[in-house]
Amino acid sequence: MTLAIISDIHGNLEALDAVLADIAAAKASPIACLGDFVGYGASPNECLTRVRSMLDVALLGNHDVAALGRLRLGGFNSDAATTARWTRDHLDPANREWLESLPMTAVWHGMRLVHASPSDPDEWNYVLSVHDAEFEFDTFEEALCVIGHSHVPGNFVREKNGVRYHRDAAVPIGRNGRLIVNIGSVGQPRDGDPRAAYALIHDDPPRLEHRRVEYDVAKASAAILAAGLPQFLAERLRWGE
Ligand code: ZN
Repeated sequence: MTLAIISDIHGNLEALDAVLADIAAAKASPIACLGDFVGYGASPNECLTRVRSMLDVALLGNHDVAALGRLRLGGFNSDAATTARWTRDHLDPANREWLESLPMTAVWHGMRLVHASPSDPDEWNYVLSVHDAEFEFDTFEEALCVIGHSHVPGNFVREKNGVRYHRDAAVPIGRNGRLIVNIGSVGQPRDGDPRAAYALIHDDPPRLEHRRVEYDVAKASAAILAAGLPQFLAERLRWGE
């Protein structure tokens, strides 16, 4: 059995479709999503309509909360705030209602899933350093916690002597200690690799596989400009930063 986990779609339909095709080719099912369906990209409704019925579990991200008008935008940079307002004004009622129904965290096939951090899912803290991860490991019980939010895929492993960070694409589960794994972003990668990121979970042997998928970046960028959204959001997709 192979499961798929996606996160941070951010209204990028071209990236989402490429990832869904890759998931179908891998015969992975069911699929979970860790939130940030919207914000930054030009196709929030198209992405939600496409993916809603395909998900076994879906969680809320901070950009979803912002688009619902429930997050003060003071913590957002101006481009993020601009798209949050644009998304709020463009969201279909059915998609809005669906986002309103989503939880912040879930336990799914024995894994803890959360958009930002397991310690405080609605504080939107980032888990960026070994120090951050050391604190977070004490706040959940499962062997593996899967997160998004930073858009940078990577793995924190808690071993006997402390926490280690690495960015290997293949991550054994349950053998070398507990894990916090960031699966990166479908729709706005920020690790210098413009390809869409997501993860597969294989059961034999148990392992997480970071996947990268090429998609039509030029089309997604053009859609952002055509929607009148900030130019920087169109440009950053090209270099994945
Ligand atoms: Zn995000």
